[in-house]
Amino acid sequence: MGDFIELAVIIPVFNEAKMITRNFKTIYDTLKQIDIGIQYVIIDDGSIDDTWSMVQDIIESYGNVKGIRFSRNFGKELAIFAGLESIKAQKYVIMDSDLQYPPKYIKDMLEKMKTENADIVEGIKKSRGKESFGYRLIAKNFYRLLELLTGLKLKNSSDFKIINKRVVSALRTINEKSLFFRGLVDWVGFKKVEFPFIVDEREDGTSRFTTRMLIRLAFIAILSHTSKPLYLTIISSVIMFVFAIILGIQTLYNYALGHAIGGFTTVIILILFSSSLIMFSLGIIGFYLSRIYNEVKGRPRYIIAESVMRKDEKYE
Ligand code: UDP
Ligand code: MG
Repeated sequence: MGDFIELAVIIPVFNEAKMITRNFKTIYDTLKQIDIGIQYVIIDDGSIDDTWSMVQDIIESYGNVKGIRFSRNFGKELAIFAGLESIKAQKYVIMDSDLQYPPKYIKDMLEKMKTENADIVEGIKKSRGKESFGYRLIAKNFYRLLELLTGLKLKNSSDFKIINKRVVSALRTINEKSLFFRGLVDWVGFKKVEFPFIVDEREDGTSRFTTRMLIRLAFIAILSHTSKPLYLTIISSVIMFVFAIILGIQTLYNYALGHAIGGFTTVIILILFSSSLIMFSLGIIGFYLSRIYNEVKGRPRYIIAESVMRKDEKYE
């Protein structure tokens, strides 16, 4: 398998049994109209429904589909990475299986990539489609916090991207275990162009991301893209120090004048205040420590249970 594949289409799926067959057909039929050599990679991110057998059917019915099945749910970010790492192509497009990233745009995105000589074409959401209130609330605040802390402006960005092989080789050199795909694409640099698009509604059901998964992702994004929170501990210690000096002077002053120091109130407030600051600082350090611990363990990022191509042609 050499570089004759012009476009690799990476599709992570998780519990999509109901719609994957139909949605894949839509994607396939749409992209068939582009005159370009395509290979599909569908990554089953540890689905617990029939998704994998659907994917196997797809592999049998279409010639150019590769299937990768994770041994459990490792999350969309790692599914995307497994897809990128599993194939050599000139360009890669990442898309959802639920048709929220409409395949009809890919032709224009490729066009834009060519005319602007870009390495990355980023799908930018013009409207956010239908999202639950909780999702929207988390998303909004998360992006605000992320921008504040890391400077990554990802508010309307999406995983819907076309990246070329230079970008993918750069991404492959990243060894971290917990990844945030969009953040890393931003981090590697290269020439980016934006492609505004309208998010379609999900074809079936609701988002596969639970609130817990989203919060986890938010933490990964922040912890792996900035160490600013660690400095908060220093800032708070400076503030505490200033307090200490003021109160110290006041105490000495009272002492010099022969006054008794007023009550326990000050002491109690000080203890409460400083101990909560210490706890908070320790908490922040704890987050980073646990990330370092995870990285140091050196476990593989994901585990592939099986990789399948047509006619059960097994490969690494
Ligand atoms: N997905 C995945 N692993 C997960 C969650 C989701 O591979 O743990 C896939 C999912 O099957 C879909 C894509 O990622 O193809 C986007 O998921 P979804 O549409 O549920 O997310 P949203 O549209 O809310 O971002
Ligand atoms: Mg979706």
